[in-house]
Amino acid sequence: MRESELSAGETPTRSEFALIERIIMRLGESAARDILVPPGDDSAVWVPGGGAVVATIDAMTEGTHWRPHLSSMTDVGWRAVATSVSDLAAMGATPEVLLVAAVLGPAVTLNDMDAFIDGMAEACRAHNVHVAGGDIVRGRATAFSITALGSARLDRAQRAIVMRRDAAHPGDAVAVSGTPGAAGAGFRALESHLTGLPADEVIAALLRPHARIDLGFNAVNLGIPCAIDISDGLVQDVRHIAERSAVGIEIDLDALPINQSAIALFGLDTARDLALAAGDDYELILTGRQQIIEALEGVTIIGRVLHQHPGEVVVRQRDGAPYPLPTGWDQLRAWPLAQH
Ligand SMILES: [Mg+2]
Repeated sequence: MRESELSAGETPTRSEFALIERIIMRLGESAARDILVPPGDDSAVWVPGGGAVVATIDAMTEGTHWRPHLSSMTDVGWRAVATSVSDLAAMGATPEVLLVAAVLGPAVTLNDMDAFIDGMAEACRAHNVHVAGGDIVRGRATAFSITALGSARLDRAQRAIVMRRDAAHPGDAVAVSGTPGAAGAGFRALESHLTGLPADEVIAALLRPHARIDLGFNAVNLGIPCAIDISDGLVQDVRHIAERSAVGIEIDLDALPINQSAIALFGLDTARDLALAAGDDYELILTGRQQIIEALEGVTIIGRVLHQHPGEVVVRQRDGAPYPLPTGWDQLRAWPLAQH
C-alpha cells in the first residue's frame, strides 16, 4: 500500500495491518467479535445458525454503482451492506456475517474510508449482521465486494427451506412490497439537484435502501415458495421468475403501488414507468397462493402466474391491452463485453 495517498487530519495509517485494526475498531459492535475466530486471522470461523448456509456475493464500482458527486462514502457503505443482504432476504434466509473486499482508488482518503466504514456499521446494525473479515488493496478504480452469508432451516428431506426463482406455479398470485420506483425517482431527483420534501424521501430510498429481511423470513415461514428482490427493475426481475419457473406472468398496471413522492415530483406516468423499470428498490416480489400472500403485511398483489406465454411478462392496462414496457437495467447491455 502506498501510504502517501492516504491522507487525513490525524495520524497516518502506515500499514495494511494498522488500517485493518482501525477498521475493526471503527466497526464497533458491527464487527463479528463473538464468533469462534473473529476478524484478524486468516479466516473467520463461526457456527452457522441454521441447517443450510446461504451465500451471495455482490460487487459495486465507482461510476457504475455510485457517482462520487451524488452520494457520500457513508451512503456507499450503507448501500453495499443493504444490497448484499437483500439477496438473502429474497431467499427468506437469516443474514449472519459479511466478508468485505475493498479496492481503493488513487483519490480515496482515510476520511473516505472512515465514512465508508461508518455507513457499513450503521447498515449492519439496521440489518442485524456482522462483519467477519475482509481484504483491502489499492487499485486504479474504487470498488467493493461483499459476500453475505446467512442461514436457512432444512426440512425433513434435508432440503433448504428457502424461496426460489424457479418455484412459481400457474394460479399463484404475484405481490410486491413497498412502492417500487422510489429509488428510481431518487436518482432523477439527485441528478436534477432537487432538495426538500418530497425529493428527500425518494433520495433516501436510493441511497439508504432497507433489505426486506423480516418480510422474507415471514414469507418463507408461511410457505411462500418463490421470491426475488428488485435490483434491476420490477418487470425485468419478474421476468427472471417467469423464465426460471417456465410460467407466464401478468401484471395489472392499475394494481401497482406507486410511490406518492415520485408522483408528486414527476407525475403519474413517469412514476409508473419508474415502478416498472427503474432498479435499486430492493423490495421483494413474491409469488404464492393468494390466501397466504394476503396474510403477509406490507405487500400488494399486482398480478398472477399463468400457463400461457411461459418466460414472458405482460403488463395489462385496464382495458386488457398490453402496456409498452420500458426496459430495466442490464450491466452487460449497457456495456457489452467485446467479442475478442
Ligand atoms: Mg437479487
